[in-house]
Order: sequence, then C-alpha cells, then structure tokens
Amino acid sequence: MWTCRHCGMVVPTEAIEPESDVDGFYFVCPGCEGRNRLINTSEDGDENGGGLMQPDV
Ligand SMILES: [Zn+2]
Repeated sequence: MWTCRHCGMVVPTEAIEPESDVDGFYFVCPGCEGRNRLINTSEDGDENGGGLMQPDV
C-alpha cells in the first residue's frame, strides 16, 4: 500500500503502474493526480516495481 502525500488516499500498489523519469520513480495518485515520489531499493535496477518503496517523508 502507498499513501498519497497530497490527499491522503491509500492506493494499493497493484492498482497503479509506477512511472519514472529523469527525477526518479513516482506514482500518480488516482484521487488527486498528485505525484508521489518513490525510491528504488533493488540493487539491480529492476524497473518492474518490485523494488519500489515509498519514502517515509
Ligand atoms: Zn492524492
């Protein structure tokens, strides 16, 4: 589960596709369309979302 930092909506991780750009990984909240930053914790650069976590702050 991820939580939107903008509106507080709880988003099941399987419900949305993480995206990435030059600034890194993020997901777009389906509620407010706000961008929420993610961090990639997998050491092999896996881009399928398996290593993505939401930072605490
Ligand atoms: Zn939101």
